[in-house]
Amino acid sequence: MNTVLVTGGTGFIGSHTCLCLLEMGFYILIIDSNVNSSKKVLNKIKKLSKIPKEDDNRVDFLKCDIRNEDLLNRIFKKKLEENKKITSVIHFAALKSVSESDQFPLKYWDTNVSGTISLLKVMTANDCHTLIFSSSATIYGYSKDGFLKESTPISPINTYGKTKSTIEQILNELFHSQPNLWRIANLRYFNPIGAHPSGFIGEDPFGMPNNIFPLIIKVASREIDYLKIFGNDYDTKDGTGVRDYIHVMDVSEGHMVALDFLTKNEPQIIQVNLGTGKGTSVLELISIFEKVNNLKIPYKFVEKRKGDVAKCVADNSLAQKLLKWSPKKTIEEMCQDGWKWKEKRF
Ligand code: UDP
Repeated sequence: MNTVLVTGGTGFIGSHTCLCLLEMGFYILIIDSNVNSSKKVLNKIKKLSKIPKEDDNRVDFLKCDIRNEDLLNRIFKKKLEENKKITSVIHFAALKSVSESDQFPLKYWDTNVSGTISLLKVMTANDCHTLIFSSSATIYGYSKDGFLKESTPISPINTYGKTKSTIEQILNELFHSQPNLWRIANLRYFNPIGAHPSGFIGEDPFGMPNNIFPLIIKVASREIDYLKIFGNDYDTKDGTGVRDYIHVMDVSEGHMVALDFLTKNEPQIIQVNLGTGKGTSVLELISIFEKVNNLKIPYKFVEKRKGDVAKCVADNSLAQKLLKWSPKKTIEEMCQDGWKWKEKRF
């Protein structure tokens, strides 16, 4: 039996993707340093996936920092000995706060880029050449109309985005060094929000979040008095920033189809946007959240946030054409499921 290694598998998108993998019958090994997530999610994933007790060995977890090349190597060897060779990797493990990345660039370059290099070295040494990489729409930076195709020039404006685009570059070079060997998908996420519809798993970052959706949840649950809206004079429909919010389950599904595509086709490297193609402003997001959950989100306008762009929306036609993937869930479902996840924890 082959194993899919999932780095960062206890995090937000990682945990939802692990659930999909289990439901699809894969054997998975999750590694995570747990610096920003908890191992507790494992039991929930197992329960949700309804795998029978005797199949418990389909999911394995090891606490491991991807920069620890030695440990990574031992993990690959151990799985081979168990007759569960790691043949593909879904690589989520990374630090992801844009503001923190500009404050502590070395930490970001080290974890994200050095960590990925160490993972790639170990994959190479252990004959594993299929990789799905968590990239980000942040790599596009400023663009003319905020509507982003995979061919839009890459010019990230923050350290986080730069680490992601550098990794894409490394993966490109690696692929071209042996084009008959590697199967690589760079999945460029737009703004994943929401939670599993059961409300059992969701986004659970340590400390104070920077992203809008977990902050709306905090306002809704009265942990914060009001939401600060960064700017109201952008050149957008209502002056507030426009983003392409996408349900985390649709993003996870994107990994399933990418893995299937890579394994069934010739070695290649692909870059694919995972977004809905629909833009939602901050004010629209708040109003939809209020409506579907029947509550109020107080807000105040404040100064623009440094480095924010007015609009960032995916052209997702490549994902539709190449991977036959299209997002199914509405922004209303994102708001409902995200709040359900919080309510379950009261
Ligand atoms: N935003 C905001 N207040 C916050 C956090 C975010 O008004 O406290 C806005 C931000 O300016 C942007 C949108 O919400 O227009 C999405 O921001 P987020 O940080 O979630 O994602 P990103 O900017 O990385 O796309």
